[in-house]
Amino acid sequence: MGEIVVVANQKGGVGKTTTSINLSYALACLNQEVLLIDFDPQGNAGSGLGVNLQEGDKSVYHLLTKTATFEQVVRQTSNELLDVIPACKHLAGAEVELVNVRGRENMLKDALEPLRAMYKYIIIDCPPSLGLLTLNAMMAADSVIMPVQCEYYAMEGMAHFISTVAKIKQFLHPKLKLDGGVLTMFDSRMNLSKQVFSEVSRFFGDQVYKTPIPRNIRLAEAPSFGQSIFDYDPACRGANAYIQLAIEFLSRRGADAEEYRSFQMTGERTVNYDFGG
Ligand code: ATP
Ligand code: MG
Repeated sequence: MGEIVVVANQKGGVGKTTTSINLSYALACLNQEVLLIDFDPQGNAGSGLGVNLQEGDKSVYHLLTKTATFEQVVRQTSNELLDVIPACKHLAGAEVELVNVRGRENMLKDALEPLRAMYKYIIIDCPPSLGLLTLNAMMAADSVIMPVQCEYYAMEGMAHFISTVAKIKQFLHPKLKLDGGVLTMFDSRMNLSKQVFSEVSRFFGDQVYKTPIPRNIRLAEAPSFGQSIFDYDPACRGANAYIQLAIEFLSRRGADAEEYRSFQMTGERTVNYDFGG
């Protein structure tokens, strides 16, 4: 059965979508079957992989409200092991529409449960809030990844986020696991980045991912071409970091990191990422 992983942080612009897209894609490069769910009405995870909806196209909103089937909403990407379910602006209304619906916090869980058998990992990109959408994502998930931007205000909100996860765990979803924090936009030349890393490590302990994602302009450019970093510039530092992050993600789940040790980005589109899994 596949694992459902939610990528969340109520702070905006910290790298949730960039991490959702490129971690999903990297896992697919490492031979894992992955489904990426765009659960943010902004729709950046879908468009960042080149999926642009036309008027009338169905999205995750329709899957959530049972007005479309999985087959009607799933889209293929340039990697045959990675599928994506895009979002649309209707999703923004869902928070209000669902307020009086019984079991409103479990709607995404119900929608995703049958899909677990089809994928090894289902990754959910969340909006920058702790509202009903993020709650649905957490209720559906087995584990939570929190991207943390390396900036002065990074710690702001972190305690609040972690205590929210703890409350959900205590009262609603005891099996929910805080998988870890991922440092984003890391600049190794700046003391600030190192300080943030050690602060985040204090919060997460061993659960902080050892692979920080560097600030890399190529990562910021790729979405405007509707491409993951592995299509846009597979040899850049950002691509390399996301592959390393994916390897760390898999080793935490029992994969043998040695298997991937020989992994090298060559910059060739035909590069063979097949290292088993
Ligand atoms: P939101 O809260 O609005 O959903 P987010 O948390 O999903 O935002 P992203 O959209 O992933 O954050 O990133 C915010 C901005 O920073 C984007 O313009 C993105 O391209 C850029 N960015 C993200 N990660 C990096 C990086 N490692 N290096 C450089 N730019 C980055
Ligand atoms: Mg986003």
